[in-house]
Amino acid sequence: LHRNPGESEFHQAVFEVLESLGPVVAKRPDYVDAQILNRIVEPERQIIFRVPWVDDQGTVQINRGFRVQFNSALGPYKGGLRFHPSVYLGIVKFLGFEQIFKNSLTGLPIGGGKGGSDFDPKGKSDGEIMRFCQSFMTELSRHIGQYTDVPAGDIGVGGRELGYMFGQWKRLTNNYESGVLTGKGLTWGGSQVRKEATGYGTVYFLDEVLKERGESFEGKRVVVSGSGNVAIYAIEKVHQLGGTVIAASDSSGFIVDEAGIDLELLKDIKEVRRARISEYVERRPGSTFSSNGHTIWSVPCDIAVPCATQNELDEDDAATLIANGCTLVGEGANMPTTQGAARLFSEAGVTFAPGKAVNAGGVATSALEMQQNASRDSWTFEHTDERLGEIMRGVHDLCYETAEEYGRPGDYVAGANIAGFNRVADAMLALGVI
Ligand code: NDP
Repeated sequence: LHRNPGESEFHQAVFEVLESLGPVVAKRPDYVDAQILNRIVEPERQIIFRVPWVDDQGTVQINRGFRVQFNSALGPYKGGLRFHPSVYLGIVKFLGFEQIFKNSLTGLPIGGGKGGSDFDPKGKSDGEIMRFCQSFMTELSRHIGQYTDVPAGDIGVGGRELGYMFGQWKRLTNNYESGVLTGKGLTWGGSQVRKEATGYGTVYFLDEVLKERGESFEGKRVVVSGSGNVAIYAIEKVHQLGGTVIAASDSSGFIVDEAGIDLELLKDIKEVRRARISEYVERRPGSTFSSNGHTIWSVPCDIAVPCATQNELDEDDAATLIANGCTLVGEGANMPTTQGAARLFSEAGVTFAPGKAVNAGGVATSALEMQQNASRDSWTFEHTDERLGEIMRGVHDLCYETAEEYGRPGDYVAGANIAGFNRVADAMLALGVI
């Protein structure tokens, strides 16, 4: 704590992982001798930089940029960039730390990192977004590369922002090195299914959890928070598998549509027009919008899938979900559930599947994009989706079996933390004290 003052989200993420590792430490004195735990919580490198840009009024604006290169034992640093006014070092470090174990769980050769800026893309013109992205990449370009560090999108960073950043990279380096960023557009080095991957992968994972219980999505009432990249494609896949998503949200409030969210309408509002979710009710009779009082978790459901942001589901929300009969919570977002809420779920026998396993499909498909870039190939949607499905089944089974092996059957948190950690720890041991 004293080495990282004020970084509350980072502390939370570290405690959550360390809490699971008691049985590992007991079994592996060689990890203790090599100080693996002390090494793994310290980023290999962190970069903080000035991002100056000029707004549409001609005024100079200054933001702060971050890239935390956390662990490269398994491969080049890999993890997204987040543009949101709440971004500071503690958030980037929590995300980078989680990313190490998530990437390890995929079984693919990628290390962990994360970055971003306190820049707020909301309400900015296209020109402002472009100038900001160009300035951000001007500094970031010194630190990344296909064998070094490969950023991608996250909150506030989608295809448009990645396009402007890749354009600036190419201009600065005179190098069409597609593998330096993932989440690219399909006409300039991107992969099929990357846009859908985190949401689809989340639902593939939860489908495996349901299968373990002899159930499926068929006929289930599902609440998905957020209405960004992860939420939209989670909703799409739930509907394809026979469930009904009845509520979604953004930072201004939530909508309820008992008939099932009209996804084409939601995509039009959020992806095309970049507008507020409250517009949904104006165009969809029978739906409602709430912006104060209760949270989206007050809507009764069988399955809850938080897909917005960290700590969006607290103990009060957990108590309400439990009282309303929810039996499965799967984190599409990174650390959306507070530790207190996760504890309540565990005590009440609600299956709780943590983000580092559930949402690993996004980064896994990014690694597939890197494979395609390296071989100058481009796979079909069906082939890529099949690979994503296989990877998510693999992540699920690894978590499930590891939990059993360590005497914690059905505990996906323990399974994910232990399995993710062991692979990185073994690589760190093999590479020596570096
Ligand atoms: P987007 O920016 O596309 O969407 C984020 C959504 O969450 C928006 O609906 C946004 O509403 C809402 N939101 C953001 N901040 C808050 C807040 N403070 N309170 C309430 N709502 C909020 O991001 P993504 O969908 O890409 O990311 C969502 C989560 O998933 C994040 O935790 C991210 O780290 C995680 N994730 C994303 C991956 C990816 O591939 N994109 C991969 C793995 C994890 P509004 O528009 O009003 O801000």
